[in-house]
Amino acid sequence: MATSQLIFIFTAAILWASVSSHPGLNTSGGWESFRNFSGCHTGDHVSGLSSLKKYLYHFGYIPTSPPSSNFSDDFDDAFHTALLTYQQNFNLNTTGILDSLTLDQMVRPRCGVADVINGTSTMNSGRSKNKNERRLYTFFPGTPKWPSSKRELTYAFSTQNLVIQIQVMRTIFRRAFDRWAAVTQLTFTEIDSYITADLRIGFFSGDHGDGEPFDGVLGTLAHAFSPTNGMFHLDAAENWVADGDVTTSSSRSTAIDLESVAVHEIGHLLGLGHSSVEDAIMFPTIAAGTRRVDLGADDILGVQKLYGTNPNFNGTSSSTSEQERDASTNGGTARVLTSGAHVVMLCCFLGWLLLY
Ligand SMILES: [Zn+2]
Ligand SMILES: [Zn+2]
Repeated sequence: MATSQLIFIFTAAILWASVSSHPGLNTSGGWESFRNFSGCHTGDHVSGLSSLKKYLYHFGYIPTSPPSSNFSDDFDDAFHTALLTYQQNFNLNTTGILDSLTLDQMVRPRCGVADVINGTSTMNSGRSKNKNERRLYTFFPGTPKWPSSKRELTYAFSTQNLVIQIQVMRTIFRRAFDRWAAVTQLTFTEIDSYITADLRIGFFSGDHGDGEPFDGVLGTLAHAFSPTNGMFHLDAAENWVADGDVTTSSSRSTAIDLESVAVHEIGHLLGLGHSSVEDAIMFPTIAAGTRRVDLGADDILGVQKLYGTNPNFNGTSSSTSEQERDASTNGGTARVLTSGAHVVMLCCFLGWLLLY
């Protein structure tokens, strides 16, 4: 009996360690300095808070900017309102305070496309909906999409500033486009001509002429425009991981999985906006060192609303192994792994009781 007890304790200890040793990823650069505002609330005057106002303005949460974008450092009512909408969109407690969970979300690398466009929130809080109703996909204002005469889309890469080998790019983007083609009646074909392609993919640095300058390592990672613009820009400064496992990258704190970002931005090219569903491809943020490439049910419903269903679509979009890998690395889905480990621990405990 003593031996069986020891085996149980040892097994439980290993399992507990495996569950507990999933560290929060430390990111550097980007918006990490926002953490200095932890605990701030209405009425505070905090040096540098204007930078967070610019952030919320950029992503649509503050509708207008003062002249020359000279935001004050006052935690005023407009900022409070913006913060509440942000917290609702990201399924956070709507405290109206810059609490740690809100700041954890704000400092994450993310897509440069706004969450709120033209003053209308394009994301919805999952908490205000029926829990079984997870259709939180969104479209751009006016629901722009590729016309019915244009179901065979072409894409091309800009050869300027190409920071990833072209053959690797081709492989990554072929897989990314195939994920969307598998669930719709759209097809995607690579062509050589960047000028004439429907969808044009390239790497850019800093201010590159479209009013959406990139910001260096982390922060905004990429952006893409709604139909039928076709432009898809990646921040050349990122530590892109294209042909390796981002979850084991030696520089994991800044490593960004190219395929994950590609699948997300293609969603924008097709007309999808951001979703409040954390497991959806169209969720706006992705932590460094993580991978999220499988379309979620929310993404599939949204894109099929625009373009119909692929007759060969069987209702699933991913392999189990991919889901498991995501669950072990993505903060939003790590709970899946944790729950599984708890089940194993319970089985060990029951086994020990039987032996006893
Ligand atoms: Zn986006
Ligand atoms: Zn751009």
